[in-house]
Amino acid sequence: MKMLEYEAKPIFSTYGIPVPKGVLIRAPEEVTAHLPEFGDSVVMKAQVDVGGRGKAGGVLFADATSAVRTARELFSREIKGIPVKEILVEERLPIEHEYYVSIAIDRSSKQPVILFADAGGVEIESDVTAVRKVVVSPLLRDIPPFLMRELLGGAPKELAPVINSLYHVFQEKDAMLAEINPLVTTPRGVYAADAKLIVDDNALARQGIEVNRDLSEREREAERHGFSYVELDGTIGVIGNGAGLTMSTLDLIEYYQGRAANFLDVGGGADQERVKHAVRLVASMPKVSVIVVNLLGGITRCDEVAKGIIAAGVTPPVIVRMAGTNEEEGRRLLSECGYRMLESMDAAVKAAMEARS
Ligand code: GDP
Ligand code: MN
Repeated sequence: MKMLEYEAKPIFSTYGIPVPKGVLIRAPEEVTAHLPEFGDSVVMKAQVDVGGRGKAGGVLFADATSAVRTARELFSREIKGIPVKEILVEERLPIEHEYYVSIAIDRSSKQPVILFADAGGVEIESDVTAVRKVVVSPLLRDIPPFLMRELLGGAPKELAPVINSLYHVFQEKDAMLAEINPLVTTPRGVYAADAKLIVDDNALARQGIEVNRDLSEREREAERHGFSYVELDGTIGVIGNGAGLTMSTLDLIEYYQGRAANFLDVGGGADQERVKHAVRLVASMPKVSVIVVNLLGGITRCDEVAKGIIAAGVTPPVIVRMAGTNEEEGRRLLSECGYRMLESMDAAVKAAMEARS
């Protein structure tokens, strides 16, 4: 789950990383009361979950006289399509130099990888030539000095403790990504001018986070039932058992130039209740005009599946392809209730293509 900047900065600060003084506001007038804390000059940063806010007009500078006006302006904007509801107002730092540092998991070595660049800021993605990289064993509590030297190159040594603290954040917060861009030097010392933290979804309970905000209501519902579920942008709902069978159903829809609305794998041994929940979940997407259920009966019994589909009682047509245990009984139940059950996956997908719209 992604933390917003205003949530990540206090966490970084707890680990000893200096961050600018700041306050979160939800209305332009709220800024007035806080201005005396920040000096003559402030930065206003839209708290929206997108990268590159600076370039997209989500970071504005103001002084005491223009602060309310600037806040009003920023609240009226959409940053990459997302309306601004919260603004982090901060003291403006007298930046001397901007650096980049991030820690993520390196998939090939399966260890934390630290990236550092002498030129951070908003252009970092277009200039990756100057990035240095080290891999650290997760068994180490601190970044060893020889690796820190390799990372920093000629950059000031005073950045080292901040990077080491960021490594502690990364480890203890079960992070997928901990990033400071820009990490800045000022006459008053080093600061994290921006902060990004993504917590591993599998560690939310351990981190005391109850709700994964990054999931939609439906994705949360799917998680509760233990379905593997992903929303896509088409109109044909898909339910399968087993990732392979579900994926090949999606492939076949693409092959016939249709667009799937989702991926949903109910998993093994799907009983009546699970199937009912799966069908209702997919049908609850307003864009879904038809649902393809493609199941292989083994542990899963086709008559149970049929009962689940019938019990769901959804509006969009449900086209079924099932094979295996109790197939005939399943077919009988479905046809009694007016559902179509087809012999092959190919026939089912073709039928769905005709039934949509
Ligand atoms: P991002 O574009 O979403 O990554 O937003 P950032 O928080 O990184 O801000 C973008 C840019 O605004 C930074 O790279 C800085 O150049 C500038 N900036 C942000 N905060 C300050 C500040 O306190 N002082 C100054 N002078 N510049 C800032
Ligand atoms: Mn940034």
